[in-house]
Order: sequence, then C-alpha cells, then structure tokens
Amino acid sequence: MGYTIQSVLIPTEQSYATVDVQLEDDRIVAIAPQLEARGVVIDGRNKLLLPGFVNAHTHSSEMWQRGVIPPVPLELWLAELYDFTPLEPEQIYLSALGTAVETLLSGGTSVVDHIVLIPGQEAETIAAAVRAYREVGIRAFVAPLIQDEPFAYGLPINGSSPAMEAQVLSTEATLDLIRDAVNQFHNPDAGISILVAPTGTHLCSDALFEGCIELSEQYQLRRHAHLLETKVQQLRAQEKYGYSAVTHLKYLGYLGPSTSLAHCVWLDEADIPILAETGSTVVHNPLSNLRLGSGLAPILKYRQAGVNVAFGCDGSASNDSQDLLEAIKIGSMLHNVTDFDYRHWISPRAAVEMASLGGATGLNLADQLGSLTVGKKADLVLYDLTHLSLLPRTDPIGLLVLGRPTQVVYYAWVNGKAVIADGAVTTVNVADLKQELWNRSQWFIEHQSPLRAAIEARYRSIMDLPL
Ligand SMILES: [Zn+2]
Repeated sequence: MGYTIQSVLIPTEQSYATVDVQLEDDRIVAIAPQLEARGVVIDGRNKLLLPGFVNAHTHSSEMWQRGVIPPVPLELWLAELYDFTPLEPEQIYLSALGTAVETLLSGGTSVVDHIVLIPGQEAETIAAAVRAYREVGIRAFVAPLIQDEPFAYGLPINGSSPAMEAQVLSTEATLDLIRDAVNQFHNPDAGISILVAPTGTHLCSDALFEGCIELSEQYQLRRHAHLLETKVQQLRAQEKYGYSAVTHLKYLGYLGPSTSLAHCVWLDEADIPILAETGSTVVHNPLSNLRLGSGLAPILKYRQAGVNVAFGCDGSASNDSQDLLEAIKIGSMLHNVTDFDYRHWISPRAAVEMASLGGATGLNLADQLGSLTVGKKADLVLYDLTHLSLLPRTDPIGLLVLGRPTQVVYYAWVNGKAVIADGAVTTVNVADLKQELWNRSQWFIEHQSPLRAAIEARYRSIMDLPL
C-alpha cells in the first residue's frame, strides 16, 4: 500500500518547501509539487515532514525502575539497578513495547536497545524484546548487553581481587548466545537487527571483544558498546591496559563505521582523532549524563574533529523518560556553556540532522535511512504544527527542537508502514499496554540495595570522597 502526502512542509537547505511526497512499499518514490494522488492520500497542510530519528542508545527494561533510583553516580546507581532488575520475560516484552511507543511518539522510528539480559533466561529476554518490536513495528536494533567479568571489576581494583559473584555465562557461552540470536532473529529487511554489544572495556575481556568482532564480520552485524561514561571507567581502563580505552579498542579492531559508542564523556584529546579516523560514532545521552553526574561529553569537539554524533535517551532509569525530542533539545543546547564561540554551537537544524542522519550513519545505514531522499526507506514522521506547543507557527524546526513539543506526532511510517496515524499507534493496543504496566507496578519508596552497600565505601575511596 502506498501513500501520497499532499502539500506538506519539508526542510530545504536554508528554508522550507511545500511538496507532495509519495511512498510505495518500503520506499520514498517521489518528492515534488502536485504529484498525481496514489494510494492513501494524507492532507499534509499545516504539517512538517522529517526523517525519523534514531534513539541510538537505550536499555528498555530499565522502564521498570524509572523514577526510583536516587541521585547517585553510575557505579552506585548500577548496583541499585542490578538489585531490583526485572526477572520475567513478560516484563521485558512490556517495557520494550513501552520504549518503542514513547520513542515513536517523540519522533523516533528506530531504536537501539542495549538490552539487559535476565540471568539464566538470556535467550528468553532477547526473544521477548524481539516479539515486542515486531508487534509495534519500530525498526529495532537489538543489542544484547554482554559482559564476562564480574560487577566488582568495573571499578579500579588496585591489585586486590574483589569477591567474585557467580559468573552466569562464560565468554564462549555468551558468544554462542549471540550467534543463536542472530540465527533466530537477525533480519534487517524485516526491521529486526541483532548487534554485538559488549557493555564496555570496564567489564569485558579482550576475548569477548575479539569474539564479537568475528561474529560481526561473519554476519555483517553492527557493533555497539558503552565507552568511558565515568571518571571511574577512565581510571579502570588506565589500570587495566596502561593506556586509554579508545587506544585499546582500536588495537583490538573494534572501531569502525559500523561501531557506535554510548556516552564518550571521559576521552583524552588524543582519543578524538582515533574516533574520527575509524569512522566510529558517538551516541550522546545528555540526560543520563546529567542525572548520574557523569560529566559533559565534549560533543562540540567531536563534531569539529569530524566525528559523527547521534542522540540516545539511555535507559529509563537514568533519564527517566524515552522522549527523544527532550534528549535532542538538552543535548544540543547543553554545550553552549562549554564554548564561548557561539559559531560552534549546535543549531536546531544540525540537531535534527544528528538525530536522523547521524543516527543512521552510526548504524552504517546512511545510504538507506536518515533523510528525505527518493529511493531511501520510508521511515518518516509527520508533525502537527497546529498543536498548541508549536504555535504560533514561526520556524517549525526551531520550535520543535527548542520548545517543549508534546503529542505533536501525527503520523509515523517505518519501512513504509504507518505505525502512527492520527496521533495514535496503529499496531498495538496502547490502552492494554498501560493497563499491564499499571497492574505490574511496584512501589519502591523504601528499598535498600545490598550491592550498593557492599561497594559504596570503595567507590568513595576511589573518588577521594570523605568516608
Ligand atoms: Zn547505557
């Protein structure tokens, strides 16, 4: 089934144009004034059409813990997350649905889910997320979060051997799990891709990274990881390798145009050209970095060095929403305070391009996604410019990024299929989803995390904080 979107506003190089846009099957087939109407006709007057954004880094199951973890830094926050993690695949399914719906309703048509696996039910976790993404119809990049070193090794160990919690899976078993997931679910044409995604150098062995590189070469998989999110991770990398984590990833061969790296807050100056030369992508998660006090990622420097940057919401327990427009707003204006030269600042149009084409580039799919181009995939979002939050009509992209738009997504297409129409999700029953989330709600007003208690003194000493 095709669509003709009539008289719709699209951005041009400097301004806007009013055109008709035609979609056929999974593609954009024509963009021109006054095309002959074919397929379903959509009135595009008072609407803005943009390429869909990529929510380039999140962890869907954190939705169950959103709003609950107190304001503490990543390492202590992670301890709380581990102690209160969802344990049923059905929860994974529901939070993946919720993440997809919130992403779609804030302009995203793709999501990279660095999904936390339930210990002992790893394969079931992946299957549950894939089921949700197939049902809702978002373009999903499912990146099972893997590690083969125990939690306590994520902090500098100073020659000691912190108590090891039981290893759930060996390096080999972990790689087998990913291979099985690829064989079962990896189908980019149908909108589901499996990624290799070691959590980061702080908790992964070289063998795990090397195994992931082999898998990604064998099956053409995209690569993902966290990179130097916190000061502690920077210290740990120095201790572990004797040099920076970026140098080590380059040495292993993990970097490249199919590699996206979340956070990148604590890189050295010398690391930046390595990301640029290898064509690796930085995924900026501004709200998470603020909430966890991780720091300000030097995004302006990355952009000046030619490093591709995309936006992510990060998981809902460190943000605590999946509003991509909010992440784009904060993530583009946050850096104005780091550089008096306003010529380096990120304009609303540049922010939109980072979120769409930048996101596509990070998945090595810029030839397929991320712009309004004839022949590209029809992953598009139509915004209602008559919504109160976008009035009066001034510069539509300026207000979309700098304002506080809510409920402005009128239509969204993924692979040419309308997954949102008239402002409502067409593929899944959102009322049922809300009821399920409500029924399974648990109130965590008072909770004590044993893991946090076990590491807090060590954390404070590493960070030179009074005990
Ligand atoms: Zn993350």
